[in-house]
Amino acid sequence: MANTTKGQIGVTTENIFPVIKQFLYSDHEIFLRELVANAVDAEQKLKALASAGTFSGETGDLKVEIELDEKKKTLKIKDNGIGMTAEEVDRYINQIAFSSAGEFLEKYKDQTNIIGHFGLGFYSAFMVADKVTIDTLSWQEGAEPVKWSCDGSPEFSMGTGKKEDRGTVVTLHFDSDSAEEFGTKGKIRILLDKYCKFMPVPVVFGKKTEWKDGKNVETEEDEVVNSIDPIWTKAPSELKEEDYLKFYRSLYPMEEEPMFWIHLNVDYPFTLTGVLYFPKIKERMAIDRNKIQLYCNQMFVTDHVDNIVPDFLTLLHGVIDSPDIPLNVSRSYLQSDANVKKISTYITKKVADRLDEIFKEQRSQYEEKWDNIKLFIEYGMLSDEKFCERAMDFALFKNTDGKYFALEDYRKAIEGTQTDKDKKTVYLYATDAETQYGSIEAARNMGYDVLLMDCELDSHFVNMLEQKLKDCRFARVDSDTADNLIPKEERVKPEMSDDDKKTLEELFKGVLPEGNDYRVEPENLGENGAPVVLTQSEFMRRWREMSAMGGGMNFYGSMPEAYDVKVNMENPVIARIWADREGSSELLRQVVDLALLGKGMLKGKALADFIARSEKLLG
Ligand code: ADP
Repeated sequence: MANTTKGQIGVTTENIFPVIKQFLYSDHEIFLRELVANAVDAEQKLKALASAGTFSGETGDLKVEIELDEKKKTLKIKDNGIGMTAEEVDRYINQIAFSSAGEFLEKYKDQTNIIGHFGLGFYSAFMVADKVTIDTLSWQEGAEPVKWSCDGSPEFSMGTGKKEDRGTVVTLHFDSDSAEEFGTKGKIRILLDKYCKFMPVPVVFGKKTEWKDGKNVETEEDEVVNSIDPIWTKAPSELKEEDYLKFYRSLYPMEEEPMFWIHLNVDYPFTLTGVLYFPKIKERMAIDRNKIQLYCNQMFVTDHVDNIVPDFLTLLHGVIDSPDIPLNVSRSYLQSDANVKKISTYITKKVADRLDEIFKEQRSQYEEKWDNIKLFIEYGMLSDEKFCERAMDFALFKNTDGKYFALEDYRKAIEGTQTDKDKKTVYLYATDAETQYGSIEAARNMGYDVLLMDCELDSHFVNMLEQKLKDCRFARVDSDTADNLIPKEERVKPEMSDDDKKTLEELFKGVLPEGNDYRVEPENLGENGAPVVLTQSEFMRRWREMSAMGGGMNFYGSMPEAYDVKVNMENPVIARIWADREGSSELLRQVVDLALLGKGMLKGKALADFIARSEKLLG
């Protein structure tokens, strides 16, 4: 091929380049990944030809080199792989690539929400360059070098080149915007770190530097930016704990050490490898979800794996590598893809297996880590039916003494003392050990055990458990008086006429703080029982909490707080107040304030008044 040929590239779309630019606007930077991936491919193909004996020459040191000329605003991606003959350039670059780009645009022209990473391959170069050249020499005997060049219109020129050694050099002449964005060593280094960190062939960018005579100087040694055999490509039996920790540190230098990890390794019915880590959660609701990196044969694809792994697993960190996840499809399509579904099920199962294993084999470590993984497990149980089934075996309850129990064991432990008159086992729980201290103590004095449920998801979790566990109910420890939390028999109510009940109600409502709903009930809670007990209905409180979390039940969220006010008619102070109900209300205020104080509801002026009144009553 001695003469230079000119030709029109076979594209259906009138001018593909502006469309490529427009489509990929937010993701211009992937050009580098695409070009390095092609170069890596070319190296690996050569390796394969060599090991098959088809190529018998010297492969040399297979590597990809990146060269940036900041002045000329060019970037070269060089490889010593298989190279291309003129016929191959014509077939792979002029025909195939363009027609597949055309197909791609045809398929997605009505869809703006396309996945950002679809591998448009070589032509993504035109997102950042107004001119691209290829200099290549094929590995084949007697091959002639080829020079191809295209300036961004659908016209290319192709002719005999000057390349003397095997391989390909792709040169990008950055357009002016891209020169500014990508034309510095620092930026290229960042992109290489992001996209090429684990590519399977050494990627070289400049030379290593060393500190000499007070300044950084270049050495002779290549600066290799990637690690070609990251741990997920190795067999778990080859790896030690330290290897996993080291890898974690290299991925997330700012994070605390992970709690444990799962090595994924499957090759049938799909291929997937990876390592997932359980991070140490510092602030529970502020977990970064975009920490799992998705790779395809060691090529970084994305760190947005939602739609690929189940939502609750996006709380994990680590790496998944699978060539079976389709990349050039929309996100909504991804969810319905059969392979993606299988992958998601597999990962869920593996995570459950691992948790079960640690639960069974390292129980005390598991308990130590429970507070940290609880949110994750509860979230999984609430959102994934299959995971929930498994997790019923390894989920734990923690009580207010800091002891941990498997769900089944806990039930056995409390059944005897905490079954009510309707034969329901009552699980008592506190959401805050400090403000509910009084109620917790009162329940303990009754011989009951109290769970600690202080996690953001617990109100949802409690609802779910009530449905899963048979014949049980959950009651917050302050939702009633201690001896009424688990009624063993019907209680005798005080005998009062309707008129008297009304008077009692008005009497108390007159001194209770405004803005809430109160239901005043006369009760017999014993001579030594508190005069007044404020409780909040378990049902209403839970719905309020869930709607506050964004359960969509805002009707409950917007209702005033509702309290039950239980007036202990057997208490001597109440007896005095009731006998003197026409007279002074000071004592009445005092008992109501005491009940409010116990709930942490007495504040500001009301609190100051209470103290002044107490001093007066004492004096
Ligand atoms: P894809 O890589 O998805 O096949 P591309 O447009 O990136 O699509 O590349 C088209 C083809 O061009 C490749 O399949 C390969 O045969 C050839 N090619 C691209 N870059 C190189 C290279 N550096 N060395 C050898 N062949 C290459």
